[in-house]
Amino acid sequence: MTVENLQSGPAPDRIAERVANLRGEIAAAQSALRLTEAAPVLVAVTKKISETAIRAALQAGQRVFGENRVQEVAEKWPALRKDFADVTLHLIGPLQTNKVKQALSLFDVIETLDRPKLAEALAKEMAKGARAPRLFVQVNTGEEPQKAGVAPSETDAFLNHCRGALGLRIEGLMCVPPVAEAAAPHFALLHEIARRNGLHGLSMGMSGDYATGLAFGASHVRVGSAIFGPRAP
Ligand SMILES: *Cc1c(COP(=O)(O)O)cnc(C)c1O
Repeated sequence: MTVENLQSGPAPDRIAERVANLRGEIAAAQSALRLTEAAPVLVAVTKKISETAIRAALQAGQRVFGENRVQEVAEKWPALRKDFADVTLHLIGPLQTNKVKQALSLFDVIETLDRPKLAEALAKEMAKGARAPRLFVQVNTGEEPQKAGVAPSETDAFLNHCRGALGLRIEGLMCVPPVAEAAAPHFALLHEIARRNGLHGLSMGMSGDYATGLAFGASHVRVGSAIFGPRAP
């Protein structure tokens, strides 16, 4: 991807308005299912979004962002980070083990820990002194063969492996429900797996279903197009 064909999106004041509205909605969301007292966090998803549009969100006070490709982040974010040092960047796309080292230098949070090989690669880099990222385990709640994530039935064992043998600190769970299904049962399942494993982070809900995510106790919602408009295919 080159920086030229990134999406410029709506006018800056529209982006600011959408960020402000979402932040208000999220702050107001109260759920009996919340696993922590902390207010839910808006992760603004900026994959394929131009630096100009991202700056509009930054100027509106947004500081937490999600991206899905290591290479795109290496191109876009160093300049933005220079101007906004307090940004928190979440990786929300698949991570190849040969890019772990680079990812650790670019991201604060990795939401897509989805297999033992990746967990081992992360533990190895951290043993060599890499900065420890905040980690979420991605769960394939719909058990879709083409989708990344640990199967629900294997998640407890995977968490035990990560926390035990590998010594990784896991903050929470993340999921992307099947597009053609209601999100609620998937969010309820993710909530239950987190609860029984003593995890407080729940990254669930995107533009189309963040309200459902919040109702089921999300700690993080990942919202892209509802802020920046539709992405180029
Ligand atoms: C793109 C993406 C989002 C944001 O999607 P929108 O529908 O644009 O809000 C959230 N989570 C993941 C994992 C994504 O890849």
